[in-house]
This record gives sequence, C-alpha cells and structure tokens, in this order.
Amino acid sequence: MADFYEFYPLRAHNTFGFDARARLAAHIRSESDLVSALSDPRAAGMPVVVLGGGSNVVLTGDLDACVLLMEIPGYDIAEDGADWLVTAGAGENWHNLVSRTVADGRAGLENLALIPGTAGAAPIQNIGAYGVELRDRFARLRAYDRQAREFVTLDLDACAFGYRDSLFKREGRDRYIITAVTLRLPKDWQPVLNYGELARELQDIASPSAAQVRDAVIAIRSRKLPDPAQIGNAGSFFKNPVVESVQRDALLAEHPALVSYPQPDGRYKLAAGWLIDQCGFKGLDDGPVGVYGKQALVLVHHGGGTGAALLKLANRIADTVQARFGVRIEPEPVIL
Ligand SMILES: Cc1cc2nc3c(=O)[nH]c(=O)nc-3n(C[C@H](O)[C@H](O)[C@H](O)COP(=O)(O)OP(=O)(O)OC[C@H]3O[C@@H](n4cnc5c(N)ncnc54)[C@H](O)[C@@H]3O)c2cc1C
Repeated sequence: MADFYEFYPLRAHNTFGFDARARLAAHIRSESDLVSALSDPRAAGMPVVVLGGGSNVVLTGDLDACVLLMEIPGYDIAEDGADWLVTAGAGENWHNLVSRTVADGRAGLENLALIPGTAGAAPIQNIGAYGVELRDRFARLRAYDRQAREFVTLDLDACAFGYRDSLFKREGRDRYIITAVTLRLPKDWQPVLNYGELARELQDIASPSAAQVRDAVIAIRSRKLPDPAQIGNAGSFFKNPVVESVQRDALLAEHPALVSYPQPDGRYKLAAGWLIDQCGFKGLDDGPVGVYGKQALVLVHHGGGTGAALLKLANRIADTVQARFGVRIEPEPVIL
C-alpha cells in the first residue's frame, strides 16, 4: 500500500508558489513506490498528475487527482566507447546533477546549469539553454508505461524531441512516468559557445573549461532571471514562435529591430520577449501577478495571487502580441 496524504498542500511544490491542494499525494522514492501508488485502490479512477520540482507548471486550483511527487534518487556512471553514460534517478535535482558531472570531470551539461527542476522532467520539454538542448546529450530513459503496464526503455528517436517539445507533450502525454534518465557525455569534449552572450562572457578565456562555462552560464542567468525562492516564476512563460520566412520578412520590413533566428528548416524563430516588450508589458504589475522588469518573457507571482489570475494576464499579453504582430505566442509551462 502506498503512503498517501489527503488534501496535500502543493505551495512548496510549484515555483510560482500558488496555493493548491492535491486530493491525494504520494512521495515516490523508488520504482516499487510508483507501481504500488498506481495500483492502490484509493487512487482508482482518479486522474494521475506527476510532479517533479514544479518549475514548469501553473496550478490553477486544487487538483482532484492523485499527485505523484517524483523523488527517485540515483547517480551512476558507465563507459560506452568514446562517451560517458551518466544515469540519474528521476528525482535528482537537475542543477546538482550538472554540477556533479562537471566536478567528476564529465563535461557536456554545463550550458544547462541552473535550470530548476528534476532530471526526470528534463526530457518532457527537451530543456535547453545557451546553445545546448537535452537531446544533444541524451542516450535513453526508463519509464513506466501506464498503457502497457510495464517499464520500458526509450531511446533518442523514440522520444521525438523538438524545440521545447517531445513525445511526452504529444501522443505520450499521461502515458509515461520517467524513473531514470541516461545522458551521453563525450570524453572528447569541446565547449559549445555559439550563443553570443555566453561567448562574450568568456571572451577573455582562450579555452574555457566546463567549470568556467558553467560559472559563466550561472552568472548570466543570475543577472537575468528571478530566483524562484525570492519571486514566484516558471522561467520563460512563452515559447519563441516559429514562423515562415515570408512572414518574418514582412514583419522585419515593418519592424526593422525585430529579433529573429534562422532555423535549419528555413523558418525563423522570433524572440517572444522582444514582441512582448514592444507591447509595453515589461515590468507591468497586475496586482499579485505581473511581468518581470528585467525580462518580458518571465511572468511573476509576488504572493497572494492565483494561477487563474496569471493565466488571464498571459492571455491578455498573447492577444495583444497577436493583434500587433499577427503571431500567436503559446505558454511553455503545463497548465494544471
Ligand atoms: C527560473 C527558471 C528558469 C528556467 N529556465 C529554463 C531554461 O533555461 N530552459 C528550459 O528548458 N526550461 C527552463 N525552465 C523550466 C523548467 O525548469 C524545466 O522545464 C524543468 O525541466 C521542469 O522540471 P520540474 O521537475 O520542475 O518539472 P515539473 O514542473 O514538476 O513538471 C513539468 C511537466 O513534466 C511532467 N513531469 C515531471 N516529472 C516527470 C516524470 N518523472 N515523468 C513524467 N512526467 C514528468 C509534469 O507532469 C509536467 O507536465 C525554467 C524554470 C524556472 C523557474
């Protein structure tokens, strides 16, 4: 029998810090905890919600669901020819994992330093920052398949990663619960410095080490992003919209300062932060929720507000951007 808690408070389990309760909740510290919680008659017929660090969710109210708090530990290193294979339990803190691999002399994750949350959630939206995405360092994961009722291993192709996207956000949604992630880190490591701001931060160092890249990423992020321990937030609230080149060219003709990045498929990614900033939302306070003053892409909660109020503000921003630029910006976090 699983250890269930009734009407469990989730405020400490979401980085926005919204108040909400789970009808049932269980701490999942092993694969057998997971199987026992899923088969427990008290949870029968109830929707299941999986939570890691709660750094990419908006809780809009109490959850009439069985919430599984993923806390499975684990850290293991193996060799595979030219690579190290690092396996982390789903509940491992992502940033601690990055720091640990760098300290152990296994480079490759340093560009992804200081991203909050757990290792098990990293594949869900294929986390990315400063020129590296999870898929660039991914070998496989282990998950419980709720449809087949068995543990499965999914490799890079099976996860179908895209920009802030994967199998788990589409057809695999609500089907897989990730219990461990295996990363592939090259022994012959080269720093990835193609992101302008990171290259500038390291311009005085001829060949930066992984620890120096990690420290530079931490320094940039600390300047730009609010610490969820101080101000409730979920990082970037909107994904950068990707548009056809014709639409980007038309926008550029009208707005010469438009910030856009070419994509391998010929389309362009537009900087959602720039679009929002142009609409005058940066630094806006709408009671207890608002837009961060240093980065228009980040929505914040100052305390005492609700997820519903935040979503209302998010819709207002998306509607205004659409009316002005003809582009719809979509939220990145999962709305619960
Ligand atoms: C300040 C800040 C900065 C951020 N910067 C970045 C960034 O640079 N790049 C980036 O990509 N993201 C960023 N994020 C978003 C967030 O940190 C990542 O998406 C992170 O991977 C979420 O991890 P989590 O454990 O908190 O997931 P949660 O928020 O708990 O869950 C997110 C989703 O994953 C699902 N999930 C969680 N664990 C599992 C599991 N084990 N199995 C199956 N499903 C699971 C949940 O059901 C939910 O749908 C940032 C967030 C904050 C607050």
